[in-house]
Order: sequence, then structure tokens, then C-alpha cells
Amino acid sequence: MTNVRLPLLCAAAIAIVIASAVTPSLELSCPSGFFADSIGCSQEEGGVPVPVRKDVYGNGRIFDITHTYRPDMPSWGSVEGLGPDFIKQSESIKNGSLANSSEMKLGVHSGTHLDAPGHFFDHYFDAGYDVTTLDLEVLNGPALLVDVPRDSNITAEVMKSLNIPKGVRRVLFRTLNTDRRLMWKKEFDTSYVGFMEDGAKWLVENTDIKLVGIDYLSAAAYVHGAPSHYVFLRSREIILVEALKLEDIQVGIYSLHCLPLKLLGSEGSPARCILIG
Ligand SMILES: [Zn+2]
Repeated sequence: MTNVRLPLLCAAAIAIVIASAVTPSLELSCPSGFFADSIGCSQEEGGVPVPVRKDVYGNGRIFDITHTYRPDMPSWGSVEGLGPDFIKQSESIKNGSLANSSEMKLGVHSGTHLDAPGHFFDHYFDAGYDVTTLDLEVLNGPALLVDVPRDSNITAEVMKSLNIPKGVRRVLFRTLNTDRRLMWKKEFDTSYVGFMEDGAKWLVENTDIKLVGIDYLSAAAYVHGAPSHYVFLRSREIILVEALKLEDIQVGIYSLHCLPLKLLGSEGSPARCILIG
């Protein structure tokens, strides 16, 4: 028995050394009995591999700022969250199908998502200003992550105090919503913070910002839901990116990449957004 086990132990030790050499511990922590490989955690001797879901890639350089769509993700106006049925397996190998195949039923303003001008302006909606018309140049490029004072909504005064330089075109506003972990609470919470109408106006009139990112389901404060959206979306130049996952990232300038689905006729779309440092 001993001579059979020894080579196995050696192999395991070598595997652990190799795995820790290629994969920084920052990104992967595997359950005991597993080792990290390039795609996740694997077990020796034909065990079942365990996927590792992470938000940081490339040696701490790439941050996934998208929230995972999950049943207990908050949904606008709901106490139930997205619920278990937003994604459903319609064909399954276990039931004799050749492949597993799922269907999705999801509000387009669910989770991390974008707003197109047609969201708040019916004449823009009718004219076709949907998510397929959003400018990919605005959605990809240098972006500033800033911390907003935690004691208020984003007013004109707050905007002024942030001193965002002219020329900055994409800003992700991290607020009290992140500290309160609101995107991790199933019940929709109307006490989230966001832009007041005067804050939105100040941004439009005094900055070059064309992409506004925020960390809950709406860029507008609940009490100014419509007015702030009108200010942002009227010119059709500003893109709102909502419900970003901005925790554990240092303030600063990153390369932002945000890609909505190409949904003809839709005034919103889930999006995968990343920051590259
Ligand atoms: Zn929206």
C-alpha cells in the first residue's frame, strides 16, 4: 500500500506547487482536498471538479463589476427578488434530451444593466432609440471610479464637491448603496441613494460625462426617479449603467468595458461590465 500511495502523494504535492505557481492565491481558494488549476478547482484521482466563481482575474488587474443574476437578486419594486424561475431548464439530458438547454425570462432592467433614451421618453421609444443604438465608444474607454459622500443623495452640491475634471467622460459613482450591500438584499429598498434632479442637471451642464455608472438599480434617487432620468436621457448622449458591483475596488482610473445585448426594440439590457486596471 505504502509504495502505491507515495507516488500519488508526490504527484499531488507537485500539482499543488504548480497550481500555486500559475494561479495567485488572491483569486482562488479551493476547498481542502482540491487544488487550483487554470479553470477552477480540481480533485485528484477522477473526483468531480468544482467550478470557482471569481470577480478578479489576471493577477488583480481585471475586475468583474457585474452582479451575478441569481434568484435572490433584488428586482425593482419586488420583495421577492428575481425569484427562482428567471432561468429555467427547458431540455435536459437527464430527461433524455441530447443536450441541456435553458430559457431566460428577465426584465431588461434587472441586475447590472443599461438604460437607453426610450426608457423615459416615449417619443424616443417610438423612434427606435433602443439599446442597439447605444454608442460602443462611450461604453468602452477610460473611466473614473469615485466615492460619493455617504450622507446624502447626489445633489448639485455633491457633484460640485467631487471636482471631476473636464474631459472625464465616464464616471462610476460608488455610494452608500455599496456600503449597505443593497444589491445583496432580496427586498427592493426605496431608501437607496442616487441622483437628485439638480445633481443630474449639474452633471449635464458642467461636466463632459457621457456614461454614468451607479451601484443600485436606478441612477436616480427614488424620490426623483423620473425627473433625474429626464435630465440624463433627454440629449440621448448619456448612457446610464445601473446596479454595478463596485465593492473592494480602489478609486481611480480604469479601462471600462460594458457590453449590452443587442436587443432590437428594448429600452434596457443586462450588460457585462468589467474594469481593467
Ligand atoms: Zn434601468
